[in-house]
Amino acid sequence: MKRAGVLSGLLGAALALAGTVVPSSTASAAAPPAAAGAAASPAAACIGDDGGTKKVQVLYVRSPAGADRYAEMADDFNQMANQVGNVVNKSALKTGGELNIRYARNADCSVGIGNVVVSSTTNIMDFDAIVRDLESKGYDRTDRKYLVFAQTAAFCGLAARGTFDSGPSYAMVGTGCWSWNAAGHELLHTLGAVNPDAPHGTPGGHCWDDPDIMCYDDDGKPATYPLQDLCPKAFGDDIDCNSDDYFSAHPPAGTWLADHPRSNVAKSPFLTTSTKYHVLYTGEKTVATARAGATAYVTKYQSEAGWTAKAKVVTSSGSPFHSSVLAVRTSAGTRYVPPAGVPRGSAAHVTIDMDTVLDVKLCQGNATAKSGCTATWW
Ligand SMILES: [Zn+2]
Repeated sequence: MKRAGVLSGLLGAALALAGTVVPSSTASAAAPPAAAGAAASPAAACIGDDGGTKKVQVLYVRSPAGADRYAEMADDFNQMANQVGNVVNKSALKTGGELNIRYARNADCSVGIGNVVVSSTTNIMDFDAIVRDLESKGYDRTDRKYLVFAQTAAFCGLAARGTFDSGPSYAMVGTGCWSWNAAGHELLHTLGAVNPDAPHGTPGGHCWDDPDIMCYDDDGKPATYPLQDLCPKAFGDDIDCNSDDYFSAHPPAGTWLADHPRSNVAKSPFLTTSTKYHVLYTGEKTVATARAGATAYVTKYQSEAGWTAKAKVVTSSGSPFHSSVLAVRTSAGTRYVPPAGVPRGSAAHVTIDMDTVLDVKLCQGNATAKSGCTATWW
């Protein structure tokens, strides 16, 4: 799809969204606030809690005349943002790194979704007008890249190509393109992708070595820069086919990307090497009904079609969570992390350390409730 209208200097998204296979789930696993009087426990850490101050801030933006869809969409925006981060990390892993997007997050580690209503005189169909309105509201920080879910059908995605190390920059997706890959495409533009001088770059700031979230035939002329399938079509929209144009954690010496670090989004200070998601459960739920020998299950839901994995907290004889092993099964294999044990009758403290953001539900169950929870704690 093409963006509507012509806005000079902007980079439109033309994304084939249909049939896209989502590589993994992105739902956030939010840790509830610690219960009063809960046992001492390590501080919760979110992805990107590494002291870095440059962050991507997500905003939902509508005109006062538009319906307020914040409550309806906030979770979806959260998942889309996390999915972009997951795909960034998958790309970093290809070149021996671990990177995620340092989002501005809430205290519970969910991605903060700003709720912005522009002025009644601001044209919600106009990228530049939205930017001016956001600037007037203080969304103009140099340490921010703004990922804007704009409530308008006037365009799919728009962004001005930014620099890898400073803001403000604005990535916008319109209602018809409220998807993680459109959001990721525009956000990558604000981080500098793709330099037209890159080996497979186009004058329009995209690329032609597909499949790649940034690649499409942006001049619409088959004779110039036609798309070529140079990478396996694993996930549909991967980041930087062959890691040679705009994203490599470790570009080999002598390559174009090694010689142009400012064109390498992987070197952006808006990314973080803090990719682990520490979910600390210090809920108010009292472990009462699960008895020795019973089993509490942590159930993980993947939005990826085809499978739903589950993990269980294997109980010891003493209490539901003593010296247990928490097995989290993912498509990449089984990971084991030790939850902190607590005696029956007190709150459960479970730290889950994962490579990607997963939607985890800790629930109380039993052997006959493996496929579901008898009580969901969070
Ligand atoms: Zn684009």
